[in-house]
Amino acid sequence: MSLTVRSVAVFCGSRMGEKPVYRQTAELTGKTLAEKNIRLIYGGGANGLMGVVADSVIKSGGAVTGVIPEFLKTRERMHEKVSQLIVTDSMHARKQIMFSEADAFWILPGGFGTFDETMEILTWKQLGQHKKPILLINVDGWADAMVAMLDAAVRQGFASAEARALLQVVPDVQSALTCSTVADQVDGLPVSAL
Ligand code: AMP
Repeated sequence: MSLTVRSVAVFCGSRMGEKPVYRQTAELTGKTLAEKNIRLIYGGGANGLMGVVADSVIKSGGAVTGVIPEFLKTRERMHEKVSQLIVTDSMHARKQIMFSEADAFWILPGGFGTFDETMEILTWKQLGQHKKPILLINVDGWADAMVAMLDAAVRQGFASAEARALLQVVPDVQSALTCSTVADQVDGLPVSAL
């Protein structure tokens, strides 16, 4: 079955990271979304890879919704040029809005905040709260350690193989795009399967 994806939430670093390929992939992500007429939903900042993705969408003529908590407007340098900016009163409200506005989730290189967002969106899917595609773009193996941790949880009997399959690891932006438009083989799991 094929899915229509009108918006993608991108989770990624508020820093650039060490390797140039991270920035290049963030730029390609923005360009790809704009070219496919897919709205970017993101954290609303101008810093790091987050800012690079948003700038790239804007440069290519695409639409961007930024969602930023009031207390981060200065620290994460609120982006002034996005098509729509939503200011929330908490991190929880930010995540809830990003979740409900997006048809799919793409994860690019990032730090602790990116890990948190990834695990939250995956566990919500595990609990049957949504069926939206989650694509971890493993640029140059940046997420190998996170993938190993997820696999270890299955081996140790703390997660099912079906739950693990709710997050797809892909090598590049094009694969993320392709996988976002194909319905998941594994639906949100019933509690009995967890
Ligand atoms: P980072 O990957 O640490 O650079 O963070 C990426 C984004 O995640 C930034 O916009 C952070 O504000 C956000 N973030 C940081 N910590 C959290 C958290 N506990 N929950 C949700 N988002 C977070």
